[in-house]
Amino acid sequence: MQDRFGRTIDYIRISVTDRCNLRCVYCMPENGIELCKCEEVLRYEEVIRLCRIFAKLGTKKIKITGGEALVRKDALNLIRVIKGIDGIEQVTLTTNGILLGDYIDELAQIGIDGINISIDSLNREEFKKITRVGDVDKVKASLAKALRYPQLKLKINCVPCDGDKQDLLELVALAQDNAVHVRFIEMMPIGEGKNFKFLSEDSIKAMIEERYGRLEPYDAKLGNGPSHYFSLSGFQGKIGFISAISHKFCHECNRIRLTCTGYLKTCLQYDIGVDLRERIRSGASDAMLEEAIAAAVLAKPMEHSFLQKNIVSEEQGKMAAIGG
Ligand code: SAM
Ligand code: SF4
Repeated sequence: MQDRFGRTIDYIRISVTDRCNLRCVYCMPENGIELCKCEEVLRYEEVIRLCRIFAKLGTKKIKITGGEALVRKDALNLIRVIKGIDGIEQVTLTTNGILLGDYIDELAQIGIDGINISIDSLNREEFKKITRVGDVDKVKASLAKALRYPQLKLKINCVPCDGDKQDLLELVALAQDNAVHVRFIEMMPIGEGKNFKFLSEDSIKAMIEERYGRLEPYDAKLGNGPSHYFSLSGFQGKIGFISAISHKFCHECNRIRLTCTGYLKTCLQYDIGVDLRERIRSGASDAMLEEAIAAAVLAKPMEHSFLQKNIVSEEQGKMAAIGG
């Protein structure tokens, strides 16, 4: 699919639930978000039908996300079916890692192509403070199990959110000792994220270079997204940055998002898109859905304006329903 700015859209992130077993401070309020009603959430057969249509329209890569996808019953079966859809070249998962250890063997057997594990701190107290309820030892154990599968592309995602207290260099060290890439994501002003300051890529780089030496730009592509990477001497993995604010990448955006309630979002910042659930449940044919999707993609906004205030169509939803 192409949008009106000539960008090829071949990647979709699908949130399969807004439920989560953590309460990260920048993603959810302490008491959780107001959850979608069960009947509002797309059923797996609806997700699969849409995935087949997306594949027909040229989607090659699908990321399963949430909330926490692994808390939804039978999420692995969904991944298995999507893996088998003609035209889909890669299926990946983003997870907070708490339950990953229980499912990693089956995910590897299914042939999942990559897993992103979100870990904002390796320190027990700090991790608990950021996630409110999480036990980092479970995530570390999941990572250790995942590392037993060398064919799996593993990435660690960290959203800096706690100033000086967060030991980012300890996370960087994961890429020294293991074949994982460690990426820092700038905080975006969506949902609870509006209450946090982002730490810029440049300030993190300075911190890393002071400890580990020069970050050499690494030009080869390492995934589907807007991350850019650097090498550090003696490190097995690369260090990446997703810097939507300080290094805007909208001109090369290749993605759309399907929320857990079946809304196709064409830009993270705006509520611009199309309600596919409503169309499916009112009996739309595949051809009608294809047409609705293509029209929404064509109208994809040119870029986000996160630094601009009072945008009329700004997304008011929560990151967990959108999927990050
Ligand atoms: N629960 C899974 C996880 O944490 O990886 C998947 C869903 S989570 C919404 C996906 C990603 O979005 C996580 O890496 C999370 O840190 C990130 N995220 C959540 N809120 C964010 C924000 N306001 N700005 C930037 N990234 C955010
Ligand atoms: Fe859950 Fe992921 Fe949001 Fe944290 S970032 S609360 S793990 S959905």
